[in-house]
Amino acid sequence: MSFNLANVGGRAALVKGEHYYDLESWSDGVLTSDPMLALGTIEKLHEMSAALEDASPTGKLADVRLDAPVPRPPQCFGIGLNYRNHAAESNMPIPSVPLTFTKFPASISGPNDDVQMRSDFVDYEGELVVVIGKAGKDIALANALDHVAGLCVGQDFSDRAVQFASQPPQFSLGKSFETFSPIGPYVVSLDELPEDFALRLTTDVNGEARQNDSTGDLIFDIPGLVSYLSNILPLQVGDVIFTGTPGGVGVAKMKFLADGDMVTTAIEGLGTLHNRCVRASDHPNADKIPEFFKKAKDKK
Ligand code: ZN
Repeated sequence: MSFNLANVGGRAALVKGEHYYDLESWSDGVLTSDPMLALGTIEKLHEMSAALEDASPTGKLADVRLDAPVPRPPQCFGIGLNYRNHAAESNMPIPSVPLTFTKFPASISGPNDDVQMRSDFVDYEGELVVVIGKAGKDIALANALDHVAGLCVGQDFSDRAVQFASQPPQFSLGKSFETFSPIGPYVVSLDELPEDFALRLTTDVNGEARQNDSTGDLIFDIPGLVSYLSNILPLQVGDVIFTGTPGGVGVAKMKFLADGDMVTTAIEGLGTLHNRCVRASDHPNADKIPEFFKKAKDKK
């Protein structure tokens, strides 16, 4: 039986329909309230989810605010240029191996949290996120999905001024400002999703469509990424992998997010993120427009 694992006020909960079920209290203490530890109990989550039919819920989803379902990932990977149309709009070649960077875990935030922007060069990247539920290293392609707890929606917010501050570009810090990695609303187990994980992914800004693609178009797919990364370093329970964004990002048109913008990111079968942009104080380089942008502007 599939499960949707959420984080309600710091406590792990299963979601079904309009309701949530606190994991620890519903299981009489058999299961943990810690959302990170809960990710390591995939089999029990399946069992418990099947038993929810007869359970009385802890409360209604409409009455609570959800936190990030994976609040403290040990490692948070980002994959660059993993859709052909995004590589093309970025004028970059298709990578021959997964182009991997770090989104530092301190940047993780909840599905409905505000994004604190520290310059006028912040951009969106809607992405499918893989959540690891079973640790492993040197994982074979054929076993890779056994290590996945589930999938969720993610936004890889990116401060392009920091990303392109110097050459070669450095992805990690520009994509790791506090609040720059909202994920959620739940970790959805794999069992009721299509086998090729081809799901419709959309990003809207203030209701205007900006990205609309299928996650089936990933150049390096979910098993491929899990296997590849685990052959370089051990994967741990709760690690998350942002699998890359399709075409339609703002920087390709030199169009960035503004104070008050509402970014809505949805993936079919996984749910929706709603993140309002708030222009906070400047970071130290916020007024230094990178050469990269000056050239791009001259070209237009
Ligand atoms: Zn990205």
